[in-house]
Amino acid sequence: MTAPIRNITIVGGGTAGWLAAALLNSLLREKRPQQDAIEITLIESPDIPTVGVGEATVPNMPRTLADCGISEAQFFRCCNSSFKLGVLFDHWNVDETGAPIRYVNPFDPPPPIDGVPLAAYYLKYGAGDLEFAQLFSPCLDLREEMRGPRPFRAGEYPRGPGFAYHLDAGKFAALLRETCVARGVHHVYDNLQEVELSETGDVAALHLEKGGRHAVELVLDCTGFRGLIINQALGSEFLSYSKYLANDRAMAVQVPHLTDDIEPMTRSTALGAGWTWRVPLYNRVGTGYVYSSAHRTDEAARDEFMQWVGPAGEGLEPRVIPMRVGRNRQNWVRNCVAVGLSSGFIEPLESTAIHLVDMSVRQLITYFPDTSYPEPLRARYNRQMERLYDEVRDFICLHYALGNRTDSQYWIDAREELAVSDALAENLALWRHTLPQAGDLDSAVLFSPQVYHAVLLGKRVYDMGFKAENFAAGYALDEDRWWDFVARNRAKLAQFTNRAANHRHLLREIRGELMGRERRAVERGETVSVARAEAELADSSLL
Ligand code: FAD
Repeated sequence: MTAPIRNITIVGGGTAGWLAAALLNSLLREKRPQQDAIEITLIESPDIPTVGVGEATVPNMPRTLADCGISEAQFFRCCNSSFKLGVLFDHWNVDETGAPIRYVNPFDPPPPIDGVPLAAYYLKYGAGDLEFAQLFSPCLDLREEMRGPRPFRAGEYPRGPGFAYHLDAGKFAALLRETCVARGVHHVYDNLQEVELSETGDVAALHLEKGGRHAVELVLDCTGFRGLIINQALGSEFLSYSKYLANDRAMAVQVPHLTDDIEPMTRSTALGAGWTWRVPLYNRVGTGYVYSSAHRTDEAARDEFMQWVGPAGEGLEPRVIPMRVGRNRQNWVRNCVAVGLSSGFIEPLESTAIHLVDMSVRQLITYFPDTSYPEPLRARYNRQMERLYDEVRDFICLHYALGNRTDSQYWIDAREELAVSDALAENLALWRHTLPQAGDLDSAVLFSPQVYHAVLLGKRVYDMGFKAENFAAGYALDEDRWWDFVARNRAKLAQFTNRAANHRHLLREIRGELMGRERRAVERGETVSVARAEAELADSSLL
């Protein structure tokens, strides 16, 4: 007999568990009429820590937060958040002299000119000293001047250039927990010890250390890399991506800001056996090294990483995090759906994992079942998640396949020994002769052809044998039209940049801390010492 689902049990209290709870609560539970009421319970271990990383996001994040009912001001205050205007890639490729190059992957899409991809014009005529991204995105100019993506007094979640956030992962999970519990999600601190299956193989109940038997209907496995229910109890096969991606470990450390500047960007710097992330928050910088254990021991990786971190890391010791890279063959099995690291993980080069949590929950809502858990719903959900994971994997693989470093065995292996999917191999051959198009990609939910353009141009593949001279053959390109576009767009972007507020001061305004004398000084364009402003804020008589 089938019936509507009345209970959802989430196991795991990391970002995935609490974000799933918050989205299900606001998008599903709170919108239901009383007679269809759904109860949501989240069970989290009091002993097993969360992964404790995951601090960079993608531009969907404002929508995620708004849908969770969280204001931007609350989010910035509680999570020491900052703005992210893109990812700056450093030393992933080298120029013809072997010197490192850098490029940005911005969040703003390059607009076509009269239907012609901007990249085609750029390849044909160039733009002087300007990088491709500088023609359509203010992100590099804003970064240069350490500004945020908006002026003061812009209000909550305003529209503007593409932006995402950096956040403190632990504080973000705590904010989500507080929000959920205040809105009726049941919270249980207990350890899952055993999963009880029914005769049909469904999850019938969870046996908890203190609470005993907890009967379930729909279960979300958010237990992290362990995959306690989806893999261990239900036996969903984990498909490793190790033949595509070599990095299987990371180490992370939090360091102080050494100056008042807060870079409004994630930085990814390629080292000898992987790459580092640098995520500047309001109050500190989160940084880490993602590397291949086949090419570096933990000790050697630590030494290389801490040397790169420099004086900010003095006296600090990074924490090593083994990574399970790949995805489950099926992320929805019977009455259990895996969300977060239990469903899969791809190295965090494009910071997509939190967004995949959001997308998993929205897909689940789209294909929401009754207690018969119809197979077509599960099959379609599984297919969608498979496509998303494979899309992210191929996009990340592109960065290695098109690397040209020869200074370490890691970079040579990354280019020559790692596999790429058949679809990517076919596209890489094609893109030597033409620009990426929508029809080339099996899935372009997260990464559009224009994002591929930015990466290919950033890596300067057109100086590496890609036949750029043919690219524009099919387009009627008007050179006057191009220079007019460049001049007009640069003027617009410069105007925007000049109006945008200093990143740190903007964060202080959103946090509700930019007041009195400091605000007046900042608005007059004077340089303000943050230490002094904080001291003055503590002394309210000055306000
Ligand atoms: P976890 O944080 O591991 O949480 C698992 C939960 O399950 C915990 O609460 C634990 O207590 C609970 N649990 C486990 N066993 C039991 C049990 N027996 N009983 C009860 N509860 C149990 N994502 C991004 O979007 N951007 C990034 O920049 C980014 N960087 C990353 C860098 C690294 C090195 C790694 C490894 C990941 C990164 N991620 C990033 C991914 C991101 O960290 C995760 O997607 C996110 O934190 C969600 O993790 P989770 O909740 O699935 O797992």
